[in-house]
Amino acid sequence: MPLILDGNFVRDQIKAECRPLIERVRQHAGRPPGLAVILAGNDPASEIYVRGKTKTAGDLGIYNETITPPASVTTEELLEMVRDLNARPEIDGILVQLPLPKQVDAQRVLLAVAPEKDVDGFHPCNVGLLSTGRPGPRPCTPNGVIQLLRRYQIPMEGKNAVVVGRSDIVGKPMAILLLQENATVTICHSKTVDLPGVCRRADILVAAIGRPAMITADYIKPGAVVIDVGQSRIVSREQAEKIFAPERMADFDRRGSLLVGDVHPGDMARVSSAYTPVPGGVGPLTIAMLMRNTIESAERRTGLC
Ligand code: NDP
Repeated sequence: MPLILDGNFVRDQIKAECRPLIERVRQHAGRPPGLAVILAGNDPASEIYVRGKTKTAGDLGIYNETITPPASVTTEELLEMVRDLNARPEIDGILVQLPLPKQVDAQRVLLAVAPEKDVDGFHPCNVGLLSTGRPGPRPCTPNGVIQLLRRYQIPMEGKNAVVVGRSDIVGKPMAILLLQENATVTICHSKTVDLPGVCRRADILVAAIGRPAMITADYIKPGAVVIDVGQSRIVSREQAEKIFAPERMADFDRRGSLLVGDVHPGDMARVSSAYTPVPGGVGPLTIAMLMRNTIESAERRTGLC
């Protein structure tokens, strides 16, 4: 039986570790760490993500506020909001929820976030810190994957790691972090030749593609560790029947949809030695790592480290 890498369990561990650190900031600075989120427009998925982030922050005792400009907001108005947050001493982390409304120059807005308050780790300055191995905020999802692998004592050093996906948010930072763990890393993308063959060389296979159940048994070396970052919602019964075991279809019928990763769930469970389920694998770690980045930013900004 493969080992199921339980993201909820690791998330709870990380959250428990956050509490004394938050208290330490409070004692030292006379205030808790502070997180500000800009949520522009009415994208329902973004609203759910932001609620998850601010609820977790609130539960932990991190000061948080959400700024909700309308969908008609301009780039200039958003820049003004970011500048304002940059200048506020009690705000340690600024998160601009993506996607921004289409008329907005998202790159300009993200670049305006002060690097020391960039708790997503997306600012080019922080990308530079990451790629040169210097301390700084690490992008939350790939950093969560590393935490998961470490805490389940999955060896990375000397292993062949293959990352499918090269986005700035997941794939690239994932590859750099695995490299820093001394894995031998290959990055794949839509132009990779013989993707199944390359993936089959992986001792650790990370899928961050956004294509439901694309990675099937013929991509997975028997006994590999498989990390499934993808999250797609399946709403077609016909598609669901191709992906899920018949016993999951009752769930589908009850909810009208099911979440699936980039890896075929049945194949992953059959061929791997350890894997992250969807949901309950990588997903829960992203918010936990955002909390850690916010606390670390507060520690740096208040002179605690
Ligand atoms: P992007 O769309 O930005 O990147 C997808 C990557 O996959 C690209 O590099 C693309 O290659 C590659 N790709 C697409 N199709 C193929 C293919 N047929 N063969 C090989 N490579 C392919 O997505 P993200 O990185 O932002 O997200 C990836 C997935 O992770 C999504 O499902 C997203 O929902 C999920 N996600 C989950 C999070 C979590 O908390 N669990 C957080 C963030 C993302 P190319 O560059 O050549 O186009």
